[in-house]
Amino acid sequence: MAGRNLLSRMRGAPVGQAIAAPMRPDQQRHALMLMEDYERSGLGWFWSTDRDGLVTYLSPWAAERLGKSPEQLMGAQFYALFAPDRDREDTAERTLPLILSAHKTFADRAVKVEHGDTAMWWAISGRPQFDKAGQFSGYRGNGADVTASRRTHLDASRLAMYDSLTGLANRHRMAQRLDATITAYRVSKRSCAVMMLDLDRFKQVNDTLGHPVGDELLKQVAQRLHQAIEHTCEIGRLGGDEFQVILPDIDDRGKLGDIARSIISMISQPYQIGGDRCIIGASVGIAIAPYDGISCDEVVRSADLALYAAKGGGRGTFRFYSSDLQDAAEQRRQLEDDLRDALQRGEISLAYQPIVSAANDTVVGLEAVMRWSHPEYGVLSPDLFIPIAEDSKLILGLGEWAMRRACEEVQRLPGNLRVAVNVSPTQFANPGFPAVVASVLASSRIDPDRLELELTESVFLHESDSNERTFADLKQLGVRLALDDFGTGYASLGYLRKAPFDKIKIDKTFINGATDPSTRNAAIITAIVSLTDALDLETTAEGVEAMDELELLRKLGVKTIQGFLYSPPLPFNEISAAMSANEWVIAPSGPTHQRSGRRTIFRKVGVIHEDFRYEVTMRNISRSGTMIEGLVDIPLDTQFVVDFGEGQLAIGIVRRSQGSVQGLSFEVPLVDDGAGGLCTRHRVSPYSLAAAGMPLAALPPGNYPLHPQAGGGEGGGGAKFVLPKFGTAPEKSRGRAA
Ligand code: C2E
Ligand code: CA
Ligand code: CA
Repeated sequence: MAGRNLLSRMRGAPVGQAIAAPMRPDQQRHALMLMEDYERSGLGWFWSTDRDGLVTYLSPWAAERLGKSPEQLMGAQFYALFAPDRDREDTAERTLPLILSAHKTFADRAVKVEHGDTAMWWAISGRPQFDKAGQFSGYRGNGADVTASRRTHLDASRLAMYDSLTGLANRHRMAQRLDATITAYRVSKRSCAVMMLDLDRFKQVNDTLGHPVGDELLKQVAQRLHQAIEHTCEIGRLGGDEFQVILPDIDDRGKLGDIARSIISMISQPYQIGGDRCIIGASVGIAIAPYDGISCDEVVRSADLALYAAKGGGRGTFRFYSSDLQDAAEQRRQLEDDLRDALQRGEISLAYQPIVSAANDTVVGLEAVMRWSHPEYGVLSPDLFIPIAEDSKLILGLGEWAMRRACEEVQRLPGNLRVAVNVSPTQFANPGFPAVVASVLASSRIDPDRLELELTESVFLHESDSNERTFADLKQLGVRLALDDFGTGYASLGYLRKAPFDKIKIDKTFINGATDPSTRNAAIITAIVSLTDALDLETTAEGVEAMDELELLRKLGVKTIQGFLYSPPLPFNEISAAMSANEWVIAPSGPTHQRSGRRTIFRKVGVIHEDFRYEVTMRNISRSGTMIEGLVDIPLDTQFVVDFGEGQLAIGIVRRSQGSVQGLSFEVPLVDDGAGGLCTRHRVSPYSLAAAGMPLAALPPGNYPLHPQAGGGEGGGGAKFVLPKFGTAPEKSRGRAA
């Protein structure tokens, strides 16, 4: 107590001045005793220096902690007694030597003390002393050990920064890091990519296998992320099953696509957790500062939108941000809203696609597919709205409605055609699903053997007891089961042994191009057919569009066929009319063969040559080149800059030229954009645009913003061309265009 009083007196009064009333000798003795007591207690200690900062006094307690006697430390440089503090290095706080040399008063400044293997923290305070002439004469001060409280503080701030489950950085730290990185990089004109990652079907695992399994799964995901990602990148878990990666100094979209792909494939490998095995997937959205956003918020928002698009576009994929995602996200929200009461408003209907016997072209069944006739957008494809329905759980109501409607309608047809209904993984995972099927069978009075449920491989992504029970219950009801889209998912033939399927539907991706000898599709179909024969299952080939495909499938022994070659899905009244004859035979009609591979597109792009920009039509595109139309008399080897919009420029060299059509090969090949398309590796950097006098902003949509002052500079990261000079009359060049 006394010690503390003394200390507070010493602290309270600037030591340079005399303490108010002079002490009597006995009081002084007493004070000295108290001070010694206090020093010995270890609660605090004292120090002083001369004008050069050399130690003139140090309490024995403190000297001992430094491994010396007070005498040994006399004359030592005071600040040199303390270890440099690396935790503090990056902060703006002034260093101790600086403070001392400025003769400033300071209080509770934390310093690190190292002796042998032990480290401790002291808080020191100091007051400058001045002689009668007002000259600085040294420092006097005190210190106290704050190691314990500092440790708890560090632990607490560590807790506040890291996710206790996975040990990854948490949302708070990631936001701080990203903000600091992006702010610093803006000054040094560097780029930084951000990936947002969301696990697909994690919620199902969590719900069916329980939270402890879910937690363990997240830990394993964190470990895999560490393996997939270089240590220069920071990985964080933002909460739930959402992760974020900061990738400094990467703007190459080829490289980012590779990283995203490897993350997705590593996360999609099966997990073993206790006795459970489960499989999840991942979707990744990617945005790059400064291209897709200047501020931290802007980049994160862009990466979020890209993630949203990746999830909407089939999952298990990555997506780069592009400015048109903004509209897509808005539209998706709008559609979800509209979908809520689409059923009540009678906008949803079913179309039926005939499934035909390969042997005699007779219709043997129908597949029911949903149609939404939207008051504003017209008839929408289920590829567009089923994923929205799944995310919002609306699929439960819609799916049940579809099953009921399909059974009722087919029951009204003459004969006893089977009807196949698509069942989404969300429906299947719902424990009440078999009861729904039972109720549909009862109310429609259809023979259970005529109802076929089409399931995709994703229903196996969590193998749980409830899964097995659902299969058993469905078999008990007597309905048939078909494995849909076979070959597109995680295609493990093991599923076929485990689940009681009656049919396999070979996905159209294997059918198209099956006649092309350069693919292995024919061999794969042969293998599937012999396997299904051995297991006594039926096979249907989906998406058959050409005569040569049909011929091949017949030869390979596929029994039933579905595809535009016979018929697209038709409204019920057309089906009903066709079925009035009791038997329905369709003559296949379509192209003799299908060209596979190259995609034909017609899109306007800009082509820049010297001072001019021309508008041309792009007729096809591959990684290595494009065919354009719209310019005439272009000599071979002419170099163009092709402007794909949003800062994507590529140098194309004319390799073929015939009339108004030119074949260009790209100097740097294009890379996958994650959405089934292509994009340039690099884009024009907003930094170079800013250097040319434009405001620093994320890349705008549309064409490359040529600027009158843009005389030179670097064309987007790796591209090496010089920005073309802008002529004031780009339109005049049209004269040369065809
Ligand atoms: P799916 O189950 O693979 O359905 C077959 C899809 O292939 C249908 O597309 C059909 O129109 C299309 N198709 C048929 N023949 C050909 C062909 O020769 N060439 C090509 N290119 N396509 C062909 P649709 O109706 O757009 O349905 C798309 C997907 O939406 C379906 O794929 C299915 O996964 C889902 N879906 C449709 N209706 C429902 C439903 O009621 N419930 C659920 N959960 N999903 C549904
Ligand atoms: Ca189907
Ligand atoms: Ca299918």
